[in-house]
Amino acid sequence: MASGARNRYLAAMNEIAPIIPLPKQRKPDWIRVKAPTSVGFAETKKLMRSLNLTTVCEEAACPNIGECWTKKHATVMILGDTCTRACAFCNVKTGMPRMVDPLEPEHLATAAAELGLEHIVITSVDRDDLPDGGASQFVKVIEALRRNTPSTTIEILTPDFRNKPESAVASIVAARPDVYNHNLETVPRLYPTIRPGARYYASLRLLESVKRQDPTIFTKSGVMTGLGEQRLEVHQVMDDMRSADVDFLTMGQYLQPTPRHAKVEEFVTPAAFNAYAAIARAKGFLMVAASPLTRSSYHAGADFAKMKAAREAKLAAKR
Ligand code: SF4
Repeated sequence: MASGARNRYLAAMNEIAPIIPLPKQRKPDWIRVKAPTSVGFAETKKLMRSLNLTTVCEEAACPNIGECWTKKHATVMILGDTCTRACAFCNVKTGMPRMVDPLEPEHLATAAAELGLEHIVITSVDRDDLPDGGASQFVKVIEALRRNTPSTTIEILTPDFRNKPESAVASIVAARPDVYNHNLETVPRLYPTIRPGARYYASLRLLESVKRQDPTIFTKSGVMTGLGEQRLEVHQVMDDMRSADVDFLTMGQYLQPTPRHAKVEEFVTPAAFNAYAAIARAKGFLMVAASPLTRSSYHAGADFAKMKAAREAKLAAKR
């Protein structure tokens, strides 16, 4: 786009959905959430502790924990609580992880059964120390869930398996999760500072390869806003995801977990999220979730059902 046209485009976008710069310490009203106090919250917490399971809800200090755990929705983080990477946005601790827990798949399946989950989201830390990056544990978890709770639909949110053999991702695809999620997290320009251990195009290729290997698996990816990205860069990420045939885009506001982490450069307004969502839908995603509090696993079960219905409607329209 010529620079004059680009400037006019950016000015128009700012009019539709202005970015409000706020003092760094103060969160806008649309970010505030209530402290978790419900009985359901306490029960979910007790179950996770009793089965020695780690959740990303706690490790990432997710603002939705009160709402999700009250409804008994939790995202379990497998392969331990220590990550081999040190992304500038992430609150999970970095270091040398412990040995893989062989009981984890069965414990996780027990939790899914006790919580009566229709849909479960499983993620993990990065395990660059393992030859397969932890892929075989994802496979064991999927198999344990299929055995114990066959009607539960399974969504996995994996690391990038960078520098691991292609068989790592292929083995997970062969285990047939219902949704394969891998987050691009931010725009390529910000990778060196925000996601230094990862490569944008390697992550994109991972998503593309999952879809190529099994087109029936839904693919999903997300980006955070507020890290200093420009709107046109976000639009380019959407185009890249669509070129990899990603079905579901999630977008949410980045929140700085501690002063040591990357700063929030801006709080993107709910109106701006709506504008992003409209553009993403126009670009052809089957499903889009974009709001300040959207996270990869937020409302994942309900959104999975909507995505499935959207695919069926699309296929019916082609017949
Ligand atoms: S949005 Fe996801 S990570 Fe956050 S509390 Fe809910 S399930 Fe956990």
